[in-house]
Amino acid sequence: MQRATTAVTAGRPPGPGATLNTPPVFASTFRDGGETGYGRHDNPTWQALETSIAALEGGSGAVAFGSGQAATAAVLAGLPVGSRVVGPAVGYLGTRGLLGELSAGGALDVELVDVTDTDAVRAALAGPRRADLLWLESPTNPLLEIADLPALCAAARSAGAVTVVDNTIATPLRQRPLELGADLVVHSATKFIGGHSDLLLGLVVATDPQRVDALRARRTGTGAVPGVSEAYLALRGLRTLDVRLTRAEATAAELARRLSAHPLVDRVRYPGLAGGLSADRLAAQTDGPGAVLAFEVGGADGRAAGERVLAALRLIVAATSFGGVETTLDLRIRWAGEDPGRPGLLRLSAGLEDVEDLWEDLDTSLRAALTRAGTAA
Ligand SMILES: *Cc1c(COP(=O)(O)O)cnc(C)c1O
Repeated sequence: MQRATTAVTAGRPPGPGATLNTPPVFASTFRDGGETGYGRHDNPTWQALETSIAALEGGSGAVAFGSGQAATAAVLAGLPVGSRVVGPAVGYLGTRGLLGELSAGGALDVELVDVTDTDAVRAALAGPRRADLLWLESPTNPLLEIADLPALCAAARSAGAVTVVDNTIATPLRQRPLELGADLVVHSATKFIGGHSDLLLGLVVATDPQRVDALRARRTGTGAVPGVSEAYLALRGLRTLDVRLTRAEATAAELARRLSAHPLVDRVRYPGLAGGLSADRLAAQTDGPGAVLAFEVGGADGRAAGERVLAALRLIVAATSFGGVETTLDLRIRWAGEDPGRPGLLRLSAGLEDVEDLWEDLDTSLRAALTRAGTAA
C-alpha cells in the first residue's frame, strides 16, 4: 500500500458498526477485566495514533508522549549513566539543550559533530571511547542540510551504537529512517503531523518490540503522557498529512527558487535547491525536499534586518515552530543558543495559502525592510 493510503487507513477500528476513527476516550479509570486499567498506562485514542505512525514508519510499535521534547527525554533517559552519545552540532535547539544539560550534570558523555560530515561522525563513534548512541537529524534544523543516513546508521551499527533519527521535518511521507538502518525514530507531532498549530505531542517509533515496551514503561513511570484531545487531534492531522505536505512542499520549492534570485537575499537553504552531496543524498534517501526552508538577509547586520522583515509582514505570520497550515517566518537568532554565526537567518515554514499571495508579502516585506535600511545607512 502507498504511504498516502496508510496515512488515511492505519489504526482504523475494525468491524461492523465501528466508528471510522477512534474518538477521544476521556478516561482516567477503566472497569476491571479489560485491556487497559488506568489512564496513565494506556488509552485507546493513543493506541490508534501509535498504530498509525508505526505503520507509516515501518516500526513494530510506537509510544506517544506529551511533547516532542518528552519523547527525546524518554529515549535519553534509557541510557545508563556515563553513556557516550554522539549528537548533531547543528540540530533542534531543545535536543542540543537537553544533551548539554545531561552532559554538564555528568549523566551522559556527549560529543557534538557535524552530521553532514560522515567521516567526522565515524571518528566520533570510534573514540575516544566507543559510542552507545548516535542522535541524528536530517534535514537539520534550522540549516536544512542532509546527512548520509544509510552510511551513518551502518557506521553506528558496526560500532555497536543505537541510532535515533529525529524525523520531524521530513515526516514518514518523505523519509523512513528505520528502512535506512536506524533503530528509533522520534517525532515532534506538534509540527507537520498535528499540522494546525494547536497541539503539542511527541512520538517514538522502534523496530525492536522490547524497545517499544521499555519506552512505554518509562512513559508510565515518569507520567510524560499525552493528553487524549491532543492524541485525537494529532491522528486527525495525520489523516490529511499527504495533501498538506504535497501542497506546502510545492510552495516551499517555488518560494526557495524565487528567493534565490532575489537581490536582497544573501543565501537560501532548501534541500531541493542545494547541489552536490546534498542533492545526491536527497535523491537516495528521501521522497522529497519537504516544506521548510531558510534564508539569510542583512549580512553582519542580519539580526536588525531580520527583525525589520518580520515587522513588515502582513500575511505570513512572524512565529516560531513549523508544519502548520499557516506560513510562518522565524528569526532564529532571537532564541538563545541558536546559530550566532548567522544573525539574519530566517526559517520559513510553507503553509497552505496561495503561493502568489505569499510571494507578494515576502517580496514586499523584503523591499520595505531592506531597501529603506540601505538608504539610511
Ligand atoms: C519542535 C521540535 C522538537 C521538540 O518538539 P516539541 O513538541 O516542541 O516538544 C524536536 N525536534 C525537532 C526537529 C523539532 O522541530
